[in-house]
Formats: sequence, C-alpha cells, structure tokens
Amino acid sequence: MYPDRVVSGMRPTGALHLGHYHGALKNWVKLQSELPCLFFVADWHALTTHYDDPSVIETSTWEMVIDWLAAGVDPAQATLFIQSRVPEHAELHLLLSMATPLGWLERVPTYKDQQEKLADRDLATYGFLGYPLLQAADVLIYRASQVPVGEDQVPHIEIMREIARRFNHLYGKEKGFEEKALAATRKLGSKRARLYLELRTQFQEKGDDEALEQAKAMLDDAQNLSMIDRERLFGYLEGSRKLILTEPQAMLTEASRLPGLDGAKMSKSYGNAIALREDKESVTKKIKTMPTDPQRVRRSDPGDPEKCPVWQFHQVYSPADVKDWAAKGCRSAGIGCLECKQPVIDAILQEQQPMLERAQPYLDDPSLVRAIVADGCEKARKLAQDTMRDVREAMGLGY
Ligand code: ATP
Ligand code: MG
Repeated sequence: MYPDRVVSGMRPTGALHLGHYHGALKNWVKLQSELPCLFFVADWHALTTHYDDPSVIETSTWEMVIDWLAAGVDPAQATLFIQSRVPEHAELHLLLSMATPLGWLERVPTYKDQQEKLADRDLATYGFLGYPLLQAADVLIYRASQVPVGEDQVPHIEIMREIARRFNHLYGKEKGFEEKALAATRKLGSKRARLYLELRTQFQEKGDDEALEQAKAMLDDAQNLSMIDRERLFGYLEGSRKLILTEPQAMLTEASRLPGLDGAKMSKSYGNAIALREDKESVTKKIKTMPTDPQRVRRSDPGDPEKCPVWQFHQVYSPADVKDWAAKGCRSAGIGCLECKQPVIDAILQEQQPMLERAQPYLDDPSLVRAIVADGCEKARKLAQDTMRDVREAMGLGY
C-alpha cells in the first residue's frame, strides 16, 4: 500500500567501529541500490545517555557521516539526515506516547541492561525510558518496511511493530465506514447480518491480522452464502481498517553481533572497539595485545579456540582454510597466538584501506558533508510531513 522504504540510524557518541560496519553498515550499502533508503544521525538518542555532557555530539555527528561515506554509503542513492532537523519525529513520538503502555517500555531488555552496564551515569530519566518509543517514531514516520540494524536492536523493532499495530487499531477506522456497513448488512437479512456483525466485532476487538484471517475463515465456512454476499462481506472486513503506519521488520547481517577485543559485544562505551578509520599501528597493537584463551599460558600449551576472542574474529574475517589452520594449530600448540592473530590483522587492515581512501575528500573539504546532510534533511522532512498529515487526521487533529 505504501512504497517500500528502509530506515536506520546511529547515535553520534564517538567514532564508529567494526561492529557498526559488520552489524549494520554492510546492509545499508547493499540496500541503497535496491530500495529508497534514509539514514539518520540520532542526535536526540545520543542525549539520552549524554545529556550531562553533550559536547561529543556535534563533532561526532560530522565524523559519523564521514564514517558512513567511508564505509560506502552513497549520498547519490541514500538520503542522509540529522534527526533533530526533522522535528516531526518529536511530534510523532509525543502522539504515540499517549497510547503506549508503560510496561511495554519497562520490559525492553536494553532498558535494565544499559542501566546496569552504564552504572556511572544516571539513566533513571524519562527520556531514557522513552528511547525505544522515539525510535519507533523515527522509523514509523517514514512507513519503513525494513530496518537494517545489529542484533541488540531486534527487541526495539518488535516494540515498533506493536506500536504500529496498536495505532492502526485505535485510529485506523475508515471514516463513514460504520454507516455504510450497517446499511449494507440490513440488505443481507437478519441471519447474515448477525454473522457479519459477529465477525466485525471479533476483528475490531483484536484488530490484528490473525483475527482478520479467522473472520475470513468463518465466512468461508458459512453455509448458504452467495458468492456475491461473501465477496461483499470480505470487502467490508478489509475496509473496516486503514493501515496508517507500516509494521517494520529488522534486517540482520551475518555478523549481527561482532565481539570486541575482550569477547563481549564490541561497543563504543566498553573500551573494546576498533574504529573504522583507526590507524594501522594502533589496530596492530590492539590485536597483538588482545587476550586469548586464558588457559594457554605458554606457547607449548594447547588452547581451545572456543575460549578465545581471536577465534571469533577469524569467524568473521578468515576463509575456511585459514580458520582450519588456526583451530588445528591452536589445539595442537602447533602455532603461537601471535602467529594466529596475523591473518586477522591483515584482513582488518585490508578492509579499512578503501574506507580511509573514501573518507579523504570529505576530510579535505567538510563543506561537502554539510551539503549532503542539508539536502538529506530537506528530503526526509517532506516525507515525514506527509505521514504526519495522515497521523494528525486519524487522531482527530486534522484541523
Ligand atoms: P555501541 O553499541 O558501540 O556503544 P551505540 O549503542 O552508541 O554504540 P548505536 O547507535 O546504538 O550505537 O548502534 C548503531 C548500530 O550499530 C545499531 O544497529 C547496532 O545494532 C549496531 N551495532 C553496534 N555495535 C554492534 C556490534 N558489536 N555488532 C553488531 N552490530 C552492532
Ligand atoms: Mg547500541
């Protein structure tokens, strides 16, 4: 019913790392030639955890757009913009908040997790609890069908789907539909009218696709119903609901949770990351000094790849023969840990080389980046305004 669109964003809280590339950016680059794509700098989201010291946000915003361009995002194909420059996101967030049960937000796994992991920050705020709802607004405002993100975001996409479904159910009733439907049921005779009303009630109470399917199945089973009547009833069932917002789907890459140097999820805030545009010496040093299987103390001790974070990097970076060489060499103590790390270092540096080259023109002339983003903000805002017109009208605010 609406055009297929892709939306995703990232928080400008520091340099992007290999996890962002393997978990999300790879799919961004792939999708940009297939579907209309909108990628945004989530500066309001950055404030949820950095409200007391927002200084990092502005520089990170421009650096992050350069990281995207370095990774291969093409501004001629995708729309790149800044969340706060499309204030309609905030309006939708507010409107959605009216009907969002608190429990839905409190139950999002990242809510408690992040509060525990970032214990040095006070995250007992209204904004932090509402983070997934603002995210829902970011995506729903473009009626996106696909959201390319890392694995940690899957529960957030799930809540977006629930919010879209609830919105459509509450506000998606076709205007004047009730009267038309009642007039038509009168013509059907009392028995059929009863059946019809029963179906409608069922469907409207639940308001989801499953109930619609059930109602259709009941119609199929109903005896003595002419083809014409059946078609008509089908039509009314479908017509009783207008889909104003689209339910999006998460789209994951193969490495949707890239581990960091310590084996935990690679993350800006855990100090275990390799940046996309990190210099060679630093990358080499980080891998050379990263921990391996703790049981393997001496070169002659056999190791267990399953207990080694380097092995997880081999999973992402090495072809089958190198993985085989590393696993066998580790278990038999045939190779040392430094030897085992070398192909990983080489593969990462090789991956980063074209990124450094693509970033250079933008580093030389930052006005190029500003122009790309200015253009993107304008385009995104038009699309957001289209959806907001429908949303306001559906909620009775279409003055
Ligand atoms: P970090 O998670 O590094 O602290 P962040 O949470 O500030 O960064 P987000 O803007 O939340 O960054 O993440 C941007 C995107 O990158 C999201 O789609 C997220 O799932 C993905 N992502 C982040 N880290 C990883 C990772 N280690 N592996 C795979 N995907 C990741
Ligand atoms: Mg994150």
